[in-house]
Amino acid sequence: MHPRPAFLSPQPKTRTAVKYKSIHEAAHAHQEDLVAFLRDIVAVPSPSGGEESVARRIAAEMEAVGFDEVKFDALGNVLGRMGDGPRVVAFDAHIDTVDVTDRDQWSCDPFTGKLEDGRIYGRGAVDQKAGMAGMVYAARIMKDLGLLDGLQVWMVGSVMEEDCDGLCWHHILQEKTLTPEVVVSTEPTGLTLCRGQRGRMEIRVTARGRSCHGSAPDRGDNAATKLAPACLLIDELNERLGGDDFLGKGTCCVTWFGVEGPSLCAVPDKAELHIDRRLAAGETKESALAEVRELLAAAGIEAEVWMLTYEVPAWTGLVYPMEKYYPTWVMPEDHPAVRAGVAAHEAVFGAPPEVSRWTFSTNGVAINGLHGVPCIGFGPGEERMAHAANEYVPVDDVVKACAFYAAFPQTWTTTDRGES
Ligand SMILES: [Zn+2]
Repeated sequence: MHPRPAFLSPQPKTRTAVKYKSIHEAAHAHQEDLVAFLRDIVAVPSPSGGEESVARRIAAEMEAVGFDEVKFDALGNVLGRMGDGPRVVAFDAHIDTVDVTDRDQWSCDPFTGKLEDGRIYGRGAVDQKAGMAGMVYAARIMKDLGLLDGLQVWMVGSVMEEDCDGLCWHHILQEKTLTPEVVVSTEPTGLTLCRGQRGRMEIRVTARGRSCHGSAPDRGDNAATKLAPACLLIDELNERLGGDDFLGKGTCCVTWFGVEGPSLCAVPDKAELHIDRRLAAGETKESALAEVRELLAAAGIEAEVWMLTYEVPAWTGLVYPMEKYYPTWVMPEDHPAVRAGVAAHEAVFGAPPEVSRWTFSTNGVAINGLHGVPCIGFGPGEERMAHAANEYVPVDDVVKACAFYAAFPQTWTTTDRGES
């Protein structure tokens, strides 16, 4: 389909073909280790900002598996390297999870890594410690099968994704901890190949008024009633938003409304609303902010429209402020990263993968959205299980994902770079 230029081939094609065939077998041979490791890390709670224990457990596994280098960065991401070639390929799994709020909805303890009927249950099983487990053993397979020619592959266990998607990779790329040519996100995709997602941002609208005694409201200027009509306008705006067939339409919705004043017997002098905005292809923070400003101006509502900044400390104590803007990203279907992903799937499983997109948000917002580094996704388990009670991942998916990861760096280096 895409002829491979001879100068990009690190070794004769027949040898590589044989290796690809043995990748799946190698992943199966590691199934017991993979399962034990995944169950272990599911059993270690790791809320955003509280990942230290699980990060250290992952670092220990990387050491045991024979990584060439294992380190932590200032934000607490754990990074393991296999190989020392000039071509740099990275894989990402965020290692924080959302909380368990209602244990009654779980039929098992969410922090034991229960294994039953070929599934591993627990908080973080699918979102997304399974990806991490697959990555670590994929690196071992690459080393064992000689798939690291000319390559250094970095396996990154990233922090704080659930709280501020992309912050971890914004830090890695901004601080030049790594400069990868391509990143594979291992968030759950149901073993399809994802090439993008809608973006999102958080918008705050603040209206000011003048307080006075509630018994004589005419003397003041009520910020609450001034801003309240904006809620309906945001609902109407949602109906008008567009998008494309692949990623879908943008959305907006008011998720919080609050007022401040000297007392409940006083006219409030400040009112604020919070908008959860999902961004379609082509929508940016500038376009989304301008839309809200124009909407309010047209209705004669005087208010400030602005964006929040995330400023929560990592487990290391570092605060790395980031605007709460997570841009839309989409890789063209014929981009070398997507084609290399398809080629890796074909090499290991004998058939091309389904190419799709995520509904939720991932670290791709920083990797590709903010920094323009090519990114694709392939992960074990279903996206719909993320954040759900009785979250699980099928063991078979973890083995398959592991095999795909072991094959991808080679297909990336040998994929025709004819730019799209
Ligand atoms: Zn996730």
